[in-house]
Amino acid sequence: MSPRVAVVGGGIGGLASAAMLHRAGIEATVYEQAGALTEVGAGLVVSPNAARLLRRMGQLDRFAERAVPLRVGWEFRRWADGRVLFSQRLGELCERRYGEQCYVAHRADLLDVLRAAVPEASLRLGRRLVGMRVGPDGVELDFGDGSRAVADAVVGADGVHTTVGRFVAEAGPPRLSGLCAYRCLVPADRVPAFALRPVQTLWLGPDHHLVHYPIRAGALVNIVAFGPARGWQAESWSAEGRIEDLRAEFAGWADELTALLAGADRVGRWALLDRDPLPRWTRGPVALLGDAAHPMFPFFAQGAAQAIEDAAVLAGCLARRPDDPAAAVRRYEAIRRPRVGRVQALSRDRQQSNHLPDGPAQRARDSSFAGEDPLTHNGWIYGYDAEHAAS
Ligand SMILES: Cc1cc2nc3c(=O)[nH]c(=O)nc-3n(C[C@H](O)[C@H](O)[C@H](O)COP(=O)(O)OP(=O)(O)OC[C@H]3O[C@@H](n4cnc5c(N)ncnc54)[C@H](O)[C@@H]3O)c2cc1C
Repeated sequence: MSPRVAVVGGGIGGLASAAMLHRAGIEATVYEQAGALTEVGAGLVVSPNAARLLRRMGQLDRFAERAVPLRVGWEFRRWADGRVLFSQRLGELCERRYGEQCYVAHRADLLDVLRAAVPEASLRLGRRLVGMRVGPDGVELDFGDGSRAVADAVVGADGVHTTVGRFVAEAGPPRLSGLCAYRCLVPADRVPAFALRPVQTLWLGPDHHLVHYPIRAGALVNIVAFGPARGWQAESWSAEGRIEDLRAEFAGWADELTALLAGADRVGRWALLDRDPLPRWTRGPVALLGDAAHPMFPFFAQGAAQAIEDAAVLAGCLARRPDDPAAAVRRYEAIRRPRVGRVQALSRDRQQSNHLPDGPAQRARDSSFAGEDPLTHNGWIYGYDAEHAAS
């Protein structure tokens, strides 16, 4: 018999879980605290390892209408003069090697297609989980509006501040990392032409780096800039920063970058959080997934992709052991932990290497780019088939 699955959180990981479970013939209900799934966030990367799962959900074509495939590729530039330190063409090569493109998109466009893969009747909005326990008939969930639910298995996809994580592993609150992100969406008619190319461009400089790429079929350019938090503590996608603070952080950088920032008039500012790895991701038939299980710095652009992979593996494990959800989620954790740990470590290392001050270490880093082929040496990320891993 199919287990009743409750998914807590209707973000990328939660919606992907419900979609993959539904596809596997397992009934799943999503409980999301927000009253509406609104257009929050900015750009994100959907690499081939996630794109292949969107295709299997039947959603890739719809997603590709609004996303931008990185046909030209990746480019690294030096902060002071804009010199190109490294570039790699992706386009057909990526597709030939991994069967899918690498896309950049608005978070809302990804959420939209994931939501389309979940039956409307399976979504419960305005349900904030406030407590849970094991009862005689399954896992009992209490919501802030006084309602309750009972499930045979629970997926905690409730993000970095996870409530389910407190039940599973006594997860403490995340801590401030000392870094913050500035995020802008700039209309295409206000940016220099170089920023409209289908390229993910990364500018590297002392204590800072900045990434930009076009989204929304080229109608907007997403800019995300990282630097010292300088006491900023708000961690919310609706928190506004000051455009003059962003420009001050990047004062003295290359003229092209200054011209790009001149087109921005609103900026979101978000303190980056960090959390030590949890001792476990599962307890009985309850499993953590996505940022709830493994928050990561966004420097390798894999947060969303890893959450979608988690969802595919979890659904595969539950489909194989519908009679024993606790065994299924233990298998999910065993499959996912080593891989995600490796991606987390890579993301963390990038903080230091992206922010080197000018000097011998920076010059050694820049000259090492000459022999780089990230499309190949990150093949273990892009070539991974999460459904295959769970079969
Ligand atoms: C609002 C928002 C905007 C983001 N925008 C971007 C972006 O533009 N670019 C980018 O690269 N990354 C973005 N991220 C991060 C990225 O989406 C995640 O790293 C990644 O996709 C993992 O997703 P997740 O589903 O695990 O967690 P999240 O995306 O954090 O989703 C968690 C969901 O759980 C819900 N939730 C939390 N607590 C409860 C509770 N107690 N009861 C019920 N529901 C609960 C939240 O409302 C949220 O919808 C954003 C995250 C958030 C929350």
